[in-house]
Amino acid sequence: MRKIVITGGLGYIGMELSKIYSGVTQKDSVTVIDREFFSSRVSQLRRWGINFEQIDILDKEKLQPLIKDADIIFHLAGITNVGATLGDKNIQRDREVRKVGIEGTRNVIKLSEDNTKIIFPSTHVVFEGLEKTIKNIDEKFEPKPLLEYALGKTTSEEDLKQSNKNYVILRLGSVYGKSNDSMRINIMPNLFSKITSLNGEIRLFGGGKQLKSLVSVTDVARCMQFVGDNKEIEKEIFHCTNEAMTVKQVAEICKKINKKLTLVSTNDDIPNNGYTLSNTKLKNNGFAFLYNLEEAVGEIYESWRQKNNVIGNEIIEIGKDNYEDDRGLISNYYFDDFINMIGYVDSTKNSVRGNHYHPIQTQNCLLIKGKYISVTKDLLNDSSKVETRLVKEGELSTIPPNVAHTMVFLEDSILLNLVNGEREHSNYGITHTNKYNLVGEELASILIENYKTNCRVCDSEELIPYLSLGLSPLANNLTTKKNNNEDVYPLELNFCDNCSNSQLNIVVPPEKMFDEYLYLSSTTEVFQKHFSNLASKLKKDLNLNKNSLVVDIGSNDGIFLSPLNELGINSIGVEPAKNIARAANSKGLKTYSEYFDRKTVNKIIKTHGKADVVSAFNVFAHNDKLKEIRDNTSLLLKNNGQFIFEVQYILRTLEDLTFDNIYHEHVNYWCLTSLQYFFKNSDMKIYKVEEIDTHGGSIRVYATKNKSKKLSPSVGRMLKKEKDFKLDKLDTYHKFAFKVEKIKKDSLAKINTLISEGKSIIGYGAPAKATTILNYFGLNETHFKFTIDDNKLKQGKFIPETQIQIKGSDDIDSDRYDYVLVLAWNFFETIVTKNKNNFRTAKFIKLK
Ligand SMILES: [Zn+2]
Repeated sequence: MRKIVITGGLGYIGMELSKIYSGVTQKDSVTVIDREFFSSRVSQLRRWGINFEQIDILDKEKLQPLIKDADIIFHLAGITNVGATLGDKNIQRDREVRKVGIEGTRNVIKLSEDNTKIIFPSTHVVFEGLEKTIKNIDEKFEPKPLLEYALGKTTSEEDLKQSNKNYVILRLGSVYGKSNDSMRINIMPNLFSKITSLNGEIRLFGGGKQLKSLVSVTDVARCMQFVGDNKEIEKEIFHCTNEAMTVKQVAEICKKINKKLTLVSTNDDIPNNGYTLSNTKLKNNGFAFLYNLEEAVGEIYESWRQKNNVIGNEIIEIGKDNYEDDRGLISNYYFDDFINMIGYVDSTKNSVRGNHYHPIQTQNCLLIKGKYISVTKDLLNDSSKVETRLVKEGELSTIPPNVAHTMVFLEDSILLNLVNGEREHSNYGITHTNKYNLVGEELASILIENYKTNCRVCDSEELIPYLSLGLSPLANNLTTKKNNNEDVYPLELNFCDNCSNSQLNIVVPPEKMFDEYLYLSSTTEVFQKHFSNLASKLKKDLNLNKNSLVVDIGSNDGIFLSPLNELGINSIGVEPAKNIARAANSKGLKTYSEYFDRKTVNKIIKTHGKADVVSAFNVFAHNDKLKEIRDNTSLLLKNNGQFIFEVQYILRTLEDLTFDNIYHEHVNYWCLTSLQYFFKNSDMKIYKVEEIDTHGGSIRVYATKNKSKKLSPSVGRMLKKEKDFKLDKLDTYHKFAFKVEKIKKDSLAKINTLISEGKSIIGYGAPAKATTILNYFGLNETHFKFTIDDNKLKQGKFIPETQIQIKGSDDIDSDRYDYVLVLAWNFFETIVTKNKNNFRTAKFIKLK
């Protein structure tokens, strides 16, 4: 049995080396010594069967018994966080470097036995004093150290050479890469990779012409093992570097991985033009390098990018390093903290736990069986929103301190509560657990009844949350009185990793939304024009006449029926909102005040026969019963009939950041990719698509029951565009959410500045999107008292939860205000043009 000791083993290289030696702990004894203690790394070592001793290398008394009969000592202890240039000198720190470096090495030499092999990592920096650039420096070349770090390493090299020990010195190039549990971010390639992941800017001092010798941390650890285990190698110095390149070349590799990275060259002074070391001797002794910079940069980039993407109050992970065979699965969960208590928690379906937070404790919950909705809110962040997400079997949820949390169980569930911290229940309510009423009875029952666990389009369970706009009232339910205490529901989007549809996690029961609906399409001239153009176009393209039948689903007040009527085309509407259907009928536009269900369809067929065209404008996104609508449509259509519908286009939402188009009435957010999935298993097919401007960017989709109908090239073109935009990648949606957060932050700062400067602000418009954006931003009557809207039905009412009143333009003195905040931003230009003479003193602004 060999005895192997690694000093400084919790460090960057040490963890990687320990990982390699974890393979021999059955037959050899491996001990890591470090003066630091990082619990996650120490527990990792223990899992690997490696002993850990927390001692200082300068403490001879404790060091001696640990190393005295060692066969191999990898002496990595030493501080490497040191000044890089002469100007960066720090006397105190440099003294420390010298002390740990030189004295520590002397201790190791003195306290170990004569036959002990000592592997010592030195550095390419011992040549930093060279006056001109030399390439491929070999081991015989005389070192020229300048700064404390290199001076210390050179002294230790000398000490080792003078000693009687069997030493191997490895002069390492700049070490890069991701080590087991750590990533040194002060290393140039690692830092560059991080900047790359943030779409940041790399500054190349002196044009980045400095030459560097580079080597991967994994190859360094492999090389240490190689020279340590190889009995032929003794009393030698090797240069352990792989690639030689300029700083600029490293940056260019980063740019290759992420095109959004910016490289900026500067003319600043650099200490020298660099130099490179030759690895010929090492290679001649049989060592081969296996890792390269490009792979490492890619790996670090990915890992940082994932970190950037963690939005939310809670981290959900699944087990790692799975091992599966006939007997079943072994899955591992790793913790940064020690766990000193495991609670076994059994919960029945529909029960609620939590409604509290822990001031100092991180909570880890591993769900063994069942399913629950986790509701969280960060109490340390004023503008943070309530978030919900589904936790499934095998998932580990980690919730940091001061995040209030509640679990609503959708099934009988068993979880393990894994904690690090005090257990005394006498501390309940003080430092251990404090009450916070996050989920009341009402919200709990809404969640239980309406939370969607499968994709509405393809039924997959791969729904991944990416944007939370918090608890929000129904956008169109304007309230008649102040402080009305509206029902609020989670307004959050999931991405389906299978079919690329985005959809709300909660669908609000339709009777709460549509019975009385205040949105009259005909109040907007833009829409009137849109639909009258469409009616003429369809009449021409599809040869519609007085014998044709068009059925418009969600016909509102007849905005599409009206131009059809004028063109002499037979048309009827279906509109569930009773007040609006009444308005349409009173204008002589035949409208059924019903949901578009089987019963209604049968009634229409019986009375009017089958339809040539069924149209649906923005109802397809509004409804949770998609398959029913699709199949009822098919039933209603003649064999060569057409289904024509318009939906908001998520590509435009992502591109234009129109997140305020997200509200409860819109359940699904479509792209053609996901629509294709949706129609795949039906008896209709999509044959044509058009992009249109309504609702901040929509698509008009043509489907038909005639499956032999020729596909228009527009379909392939749009699918390709979506692929290029990466609409099928979760990452695209995370980036969107990240930008939305930023808009919120910037806009709030802007509004608050205006208010602190004493400016007066009023709103303009009260569209549904205003409810979303105002509630998400946390804006209310303390920011501005009212907003102007021309829709008489809305006037006098309040935007829910904000206490902001809606007024008509005649009700106000328009010369009294400094800023008009246009909430209906999609009509910004129209509104400004129409009103600029009215508001002579005010400046028009938008929220985004
Ligand atoms: Zn899906």
